[in-house]
Amino acid sequence: MVAEHSAIGPGLAANLRVDGARLWKTLLEIGEIGATPGGGCRRLALTSEDRAARELFMGWAREAGAKISVDRIGNIFCRRAGSQDALPPVMLGSHLDTVPTGGKFDGALGVIAALEVLRTLEDRKIRTLAPIELVVWMNEEGSRFSPSMMGSAVFAGDLPFERALAIKDPGGTTVAAALAETGIAGEAPIGGRPVAAYLELHNEQGPILEAEGTQIGIVTGTFTARYFVATVTGEPAHVGPTPMEARRDALVGAAEAILAIDRIGRGFGPDGRSNAPHLEVYPNVRGVIPAEVKLSCDVRHADPTQVAAMEILLRSELAAIGARRGINISLEQYFQFGPMQFDAELVATFRDAARSLGYTHRDILTVAGHDTVPMRKICPSAMIFTPSIGGISHNEREFTSAAQAEAGCNVLLHAVLARTGVATA
Ligand SMILES: [Zn+2]
Repeated sequence: MVAEHSAIGPGLAANLRVDGARLWKTLLEIGEIGATPGGGCRRLALTSEDRAARELFMGWAREAGAKISVDRIGNIFCRRAGSQDALPPVMLGSHLDTVPTGGKFDGALGVIAALEVLRTLEDRKIRTLAPIELVVWMNEEGSRFSPSMMGSAVFAGDLPFERALAIKDPGGTTVAAALAETGIAGEAPIGGRPVAAYLELHNEQGPILEAEGTQIGIVTGTFTARYFVATVTGEPAHVGPTPMEARRDALVGAAEAILAIDRIGRGFGPDGRSNAPHLEVYPNVRGVIPAEVKLSCDVRHADPTQVAAMEILLRSELAAIGARRGINISLEQYFQFGPMQFDAELVATFRDAARSLGYTHRDILTVAGHDTVPMRKICPSAMIFTPSIGGISHNEREFTSAAQAEAGCNVLLHAVLARTGVATA
């Protein structure tokens, strides 16, 4: 049974490191699929580029001894047996799809780091007690098929499978049709099995770690965000004869509201955020003063009590604009995200790994959604960040250095081993 058990003792495991050069080379190689002239990636979910990246990845995982299965929504699982193989698996991964003008690191870094963990264990013939599964979630970005985090949400039971299949892209193609056309859907049943833990490495996509010179972000949970639709109601009128003082222009009211919303985010310190990114104007014709505008907006903060204060300010600002302009502005909340805490024990495991490896680290919250968010509902889940140069992400210029990626991968390796346990000879 020598092959079943490694000869490594606890001391050797502590000295274990990933192969940073191999990690970097592999990351750049997968980045060639869907490569854009600006140095980024375009691999929309369920396209031929997505499929090519997935095939390349599965080939590498197979070479490293993993057994591959793909579930019916297209999530990939690459399993490496444990010495106690009936134990629930420890999962690690991320996604391979990108936004239309994305970078080479968002998602791919976590997937390739997971592969490097597996390759390192293979090289050293280290057998874990619990099995390990590398996972590639289908459609994390939600750029082609909304919502984002689709594969992980279906796996975690957060989004019904049938409902996901019926979702259409802007061209009218359903997820079901795209899964069939690309051959991405597999046969494995979706979820319904125990998972010991889920660990994800991702780039920060924000500026904090780089600005501080910190190597690892230990993600303890999420920002809080509240999403609203503001309905601005004025009065339609002819754009010519109507005197300025007689107008009740809903779009001008919305313009003022947008500026007020922007000020709110700026007024709540470095953790404050606010957006007003989408407008619908009625009747939206050149000859008529706009009668109604639907304005989507949101407020976000690391501290949930500050989000409540931002909402109060938002409501009072909108009421004041309405009164001043003789228009009505109503605000309806349609969604709240967070606050969520990731698993405290797993967060501590990541922190211990970063500390024992001698990397600088700090606790941080994620502002963006990640596959860890739905996974936390079904198993202990947590994630770490590596720095994003200039905080740039969802952009072709997104970058994390080879040394930063290697540090993150080493933390992932040691946190995974702490969770799976290592079989001894
Ligand atoms: Zn991502």
